[in-house]
Order: sequence, then C-alpha cells, then structure tokens
Amino acid sequence: MSFYISSGFKVKCNKCSSQAIVRVPYAKLNLCREHYLKYIESRVYKFIEKRGLLKGVNSLLVALSGGKDSLSLLYILNELKDALGLKAVYGVHLDLGIGLYSEMSRKAVELACENVNAKCFTVALSELVGHTLPELVKLVKRPACSLCGMIKRYFINLFAVELGVDAVSLGHHMDDILVFILKDFMLQDLVDMSKMVPAIPGIPGIATSKLKLLYETYENDLLMYASLRNIKYVETDCPFKYRDPFKASIRKMLDELEEVMPGFKLSLARRIFKNLSKYVSANIEKKVVPCKYCGMPSSTGTCAFCRLTERATGAPLGPVTRERIKNIVKLARGY
Ligand code: SF4
Ligand code: ZN
Ligand code: ZN
Repeated sequence: MSFYISSGFKVKCNKCSSQAIVRVPYAKLNLCREHYLKYIESRVYKFIEKRGLLKGVNSLLVALSGGKDSLSLLYILNELKDALGLKAVYGVHLDLGIGLYSEMSRKAVELACENVNAKCFTVALSELVGHTLPELVKLVKRPACSLCGMIKRYFINLFAVELGVDAVSLGHHMDDILVFILKDFMLQDLVDMSKMVPAIPGIPGIATSKLKLLYETYENDLLMYASLRNIKYVETDCPFKYRDPFKASIRKMLDELEEVMPGFKLSLARRIFKNLSKYVSANIEKKVVPCKYCGMPSSTGTCAFCRLTERATGAPLGPVTRERIKNIVKLARGY
C-alpha cells in the first residue's frame, strides 16, 4: 500500500529531481506529487487499453456517490478522456434523502463536476417515487443497504438507457472487488461472483454496459490521489453503513498478505480476472426479459424496482420513474 514519505527523509522522485512524497511499494517507486498523480492515471489508462474496455465507447456516464472512489474516477477520466477518445463524460447522482449525509454527497458531486467541467445530473429519489430511502426502509422493512443497492442499480441503468450513453462506469476499486469475490467464493455464490468482472455487456434498449475501470486500482491509491488532487469528497459514513464482520475479516487477511508481499492483491485480481472471464462467458447468458411495467431488465417479467414500489406504495412506480427521467434528459438537451 502506498504511503507518505516523511518530510524528514530526503528521497528523490524516480521520475524527476524533485523530492519524493509518496512511496509505492508494489511498484518499488518513490514519486513526487505530479508524477504520482500521472502514475495513477497511467495505470488506469493501461488497464482500460489492455482490456479494450472503451472500444467503441464515445459517451460515458459516471455513477457518482460523492465518496473518494467515484469522484477520483471522474477526475482520472477527465485527465484521460482525450487519450481514450471519449467525446462526452457525464456524471449522475441519486440523492437518497438521508439527511445531512445526502446533502453533503450532493454538494460534493456538484462541485467535482463543476471542477472538471462535466455535465452533472443529480436527481432526488423523493422526486421520482415520492419517498426518501429512510421512508422506503420503514415501508418495506428491508435492510437499508440491500434496498439502496437495488434502487441505485435500477436508477443508474435507467438513466443511462434514457440518456443514450454507450457505457456506465462504476467506482468499485480492487480492494472491494476482491473482498466481494472471496466472500462469494466462500459461500459458493458463483452467479454473484461472476458479476465481478471489469465489463458486463449491455442488452440493446434495456441495459447499458457496466464497466469497473478501477478494477486494478488500490483503495489506498484513490485515497492518496483524492488528497493530492484536493478533491472535496464526503468523508463521513452513511448512517446506515453496516460493518459486515465476514467482509472485514477477509479485508484484514488481504491487507496482511499485501503487507508481507507488496503487489499480492494486484496479482490476485489479475489471476481471478482470467479465470472469472471464462466462467462468465460460459454462464452469464441467463435469460433477461423486459419488465411488463417499465421495460427494464427482469428475470421474472416484473423488475425488482416495480416489485418493491408496488409493495411500498400499492403501485409499481417504474413507469412514472422512467417518464420523469425521460423529462430530465429532455430538459437537459433543451427539447
Ligand atoms: Fe446506501 Fe448502505 Fe451505502 Fe448508505 S451505506 S449509501 S444505505 S448502500
Ligand atoms: Zn517527479
Ligand atoms: Zn419495472
């Protein structure tokens, strides 16, 4: 894991004659601020190019939570967009209505988009379905995070489809991805595990391709990148955040292995990617049918969002949500 070099040590940057401020153990590099920022951006660039993740992608929607990961990704893409041949990078944020936490998240997203000159869409959940996340949690009596995850997945996909972008980029980093994969493996939840690949292909008209462009980026590097780029992200945790002891133990084990073998996580992520890709191409083509209410992907004919909103309010709110998003997009385009 990268760390700051104490100012008491006179260490030169490996790329120029300036004083190094960051040590990158997995690459055996000492870097100054400028070269560290460039190094992180070039690692993301190389990963994208090597896997051909943005082949044929002209417009990209970045899902923004307001945290360090997604906002750093937005800044990295802003630096790389010409080299990657991207014509448009948009940001999208769903305001969940979780009090002060949501207010701070929204402000952080808007400021970041303004700083990188990206068109930003922020939409409140309460404007779409008439309820905030805490209200929905009470109405349907489901754990907040599973509800929130489902709603965000639905919203981001729907927004991408209506905006007509070529792909969506999510802010998941390597540390989180490895924890998810190892947990799924231990529980033998191979279908869930198979979703942890860098690219999930889209389905014309109903699902936009999802990309994990930070698949080989350490969380610790995003923290340092955000700090050195002076990105104002939300540092406080969501009040619903639940510390899963299973995941925390896996994370601790991975951190310990990385400590004694710098680069361990990276090589594990690369090996897993190779094997998962084979599994995915053989198994991911499961049947997806459009929801009979809103037309979004479902496995049973009614999508999870329409099922949930029907339970909470008595009517499936997919169609009205879709109409509202259509109007937001139309308004932004000026017609
Ligand atoms: Fe949503 Fe849970 Fe994250 Fe809060 S902690 S934003 S409820 S997923
Ligand atoms: Zn330097
Ligand atoms: Zn639906």
